[in-house]
Amino acid sequence: MSDLSRLILDHVRDIRDYPQPGVLFKDITPLLADPEALAAVIDGFAGLHQVDKVVGIEARGFILAAPAAYRAGAGFVPVRKKGKLPAETLEASYDLEYGSATIEVHRDAFTPGERVLIIDDVLATGGTARAAVELVRRAGADVVAIAVLMELAFLKGRERLDGVEVHSLVIV
Ligand code: AMP
Repeated sequence: MSDLSRLILDHVRDIRDYPQPGVLFKDITPLLADPEALAAVIDGFAGLHQVDKVVGIEARGFILAAPAAYRAGAGFVPVRKKGKLPAETLEASYDLEYGSATIEVHRDAFTPGERVLIIDDVLATGGTARAAVELVRRAGADVVAIAVLMELAFLKGRERLDGVEVHSLVIV
């Protein structure tokens, strides 16, 4: 295991049955609070690809994507839950265990053909990341890769992201 993977595992806390029974929630706040771990993670994301824009998925993806964009010399674009972005949007829906969710991006967030890295904290079933890929593509940009701090391999999210390069700083 890499030093970075070890550092992440040492700073992400498992919270049982949050936000609902049966979920083992990966709490990244100890990692965010640690200067060495935070810097290593942001540098890890920023070094992955040369891109024009880094997309962060609300809400924890924002915390990681904005500094990674700054570090990489790229712009930052938010993908938000429905109803939060003020200008004209594109939207994509996906199924959750109970019900569905909708995320949005500003229609004019990218110039055609821009190279984009999508960042989130955790890849679980892959539904969120898949919807984000669809949004970025429909907005006219090119998804170079998806990067997450932690991938929960048993949920097989990677399989739903067929053809998209996925970088996980740690896989559990
Ligand atoms: P999914 O769409 O199932 O891949 O879920 C990914 C989204 O839900 C990400 O934005 C994560 O922040 C969040 N998420 C899902 N499962 C967990 C978990 N076990 N711990 C922390 N966040 C999670």
